Amino acid sequence: MKHEQSYHMTPEEFEKNGQEVIHWIADYYRRIESFPVMSQAAPGDIRAGLPPHAPAKGESFSSILQDVDKIIIPGITHWQSPNFFAYFPANASGAAILGELLSAGLGVQGMIWATSPACTELETQVLDWLVEMLALPEKFRSSGTGAGVIQDTASSASLCAVLAAREKATQFASNLKGGDGRLTAYASSQTHSSVEKAVKIAGIGKENLRLVPVDRNFAMRPEELAKLIQEDRRKGKIPFFVCATVGTTSSNAMDPLDKIGAIARQENIWLHVDAAMSGTAALCPEFRHIHKGLEFADSYCFNPHKWMFTNFDCDCFYIGDRKILIQTLSILPEYLKNKATESGAVIDYRDWQVPLGRRFRALKLWFVIRHYGIEGLQYHVRQHVQLAQEFAEWVKGEPDFELMAPVPLNLVCFRHKAGAKFNENLLDHLNRSGKIYLTHTKLNDIYTLRMSIAQTNTQRRHVEQAWELIRKTARELKEKIKD
Ligand code: PLP
Repeated sequence: MKHEQSYHMTPEEFEKNGQEVIHWIADYYRRIESFPVMSQAAPGDIRAGLPPHAPAKGESFSSILQDVDKIIIPGITHWQSPNFFAYFPANASGAAILGELLSAGLGVQGMIWATSPACTELETQVLDWLVEMLALPEKFRSSGTGAGVIQDTASSASLCAVLAAREKATQFASNLKGGDGRLTAYASSQTHSSVEKAVKIAGIGKENLRLVPVDRNFAMRPEELAKLIQEDRRKGKIPFFVCATVGTTSSNAMDPLDKIGAIARQENIWLHVDAAMSGTAALCPEFRHIHKGLEFADSYCFNPHKWMFTNFDCDCFYIGDRKILIQTLSILPEYLKNKATESGAVIDYRDWQVPLGRRFRALKLWFVIRHYGIEGLQYHVRQHVQLAQEFAEWVKGEPDFELMAPVPLNLVCFRHKAGAKFNENLLDHLNRSGKIYLTHTKLNDIYTLRMSIAQTNTQRRHVEQAWELIRKTARELKEKIKD
C-alpha cells in the first residue's frame, strides 16, 4: 500500500521527542535555582537571537530543543523558582503539568457538552468538590440554583459577573446600553484593575465606577460604600454591582464581606467576591474566616492557577443563580444545535463565558486534587502562611525595616526606613542579583516592597536566604551612601 506523504510526527517520533521534553522539564526543575530568577534580558535581546524568517523546511526536534536552551531560557523569568517572591504567584506542579499535557494530547474543544461530555462533566464535578473543599456556600453547588465554571482568569470571571449583574439590573434589556449611563458600580480603591476593565468592556463607563475609600488596613469601608450608593440614588443613578476582594493585590487586605454583603442585599445590588489568590487558603478550616459573609455573594472566584499548584490558566468562577449568567451569554446559532442541548439535561459551558471555545482545564485540576489530596494541599498552604508569618516577625525585629500592612496570610508588605529612593534601589539590586525576585507597590503613596510566599517548591531555607540577602544588600547600600 502506498503511503501518502506526511510532514506530521509519527506516534513513535512523538513518543521519543515527548520523552525528551519530559526529561528536559524534569531537568529544568533540578537546575531551576541556577538561573537568575528575573530574566536579565534587555529589550530586543530574544528577537535578535531568532532568524528573521520562518524556516521553509522542517527542522529536527533536537535542534528546536537546543534553541530553547540557547535562545528562550535567557528570556525566561523563572516563575517556578523557589526564589520567586514577586507579584502573586502562578504556581505549577508535576501533577498539573501532566494534566495539561494530557489535555493538549486529547486536543478537545469543549464548547458544548456534545463536543466531549467528559470535559463538561468532569468540570462540574470538580467544581462541586471545591465547594466542599473550601466550604463555599451551598448555593454554588450544581445541585442548587448555581454552579461553578472554569474561566481562564479572574479578569474573565469579573467580566462575566459585571455582564450578568448588568443584565439582571436592566431586566435583560441590553439595548439600554449599560443602563443609559445610569448604572453605577462599586469597588474599593485597592480592587484589582481587572474590575475597572470589566466595567469599561461592559459599557458601564469608567466614570460610573466608584472607588470606595479603605480603612487603615486597606479594606473597604462599608459605611463609605453605603454613603456612595445613597448619593448615587439621589442623583437618579442605578447602583447595580459591587466587588469585594478577599486578599487585595497590593497588600492582601480582606474586605468585610459580611457588612458589604448586608448592604448589597438591602440595596438589591449584585455582590461579586474576588478571592483570586487568597481563596485557596480556605482549604484550611483555620483560614475560612476570610470568607465570612460569602453567603451574600451572587458570584465568587478564586484562581487555582495562583496558589493551588495548578498551571496557569485556571480560575474557578461560581454563580448563585446560573440562569442569569446563561441568559446573559447564551446565543444558539443553527450549527451548534444538537439533541443533548435540546433535551435540557446537559450543561453547555459556552453559555457561561465570553468565548465560544474552551480548553479541557478540569483535567489538570482533577490531577492536582487527586495527586495531593485535600491533606497535601492544606499542608503546603499552611507551610506558606507559616513562612510568611515568620518573615513578618523578622521584619518587625529589625530596626531598619518596618511592616507596611497586616499579614493575614502569605504576603508581607515591608520597607526599609531609609525612604522611597532607597527601597527602589534596594529592589533593583536584589532583582539584578538574580538570586531572588520581589516586586513593589505603593500603600498610602509610600513605596513598599512585597514578599509573596507561595511558590510550589519554596522552603524555609529559601525564605531565610532571601531575608539574609535583603538585609545584606541594604547594609551595603547604606555603606555606599555614607562613603
Ligand atoms: N484579582 C486579584 C485580587 C488579583 O490579585 C489578580 C491578579 O493578581 C487578579 C484579580 C487578576 O488575575 P487574572 O490574571 O487571573 O485575571
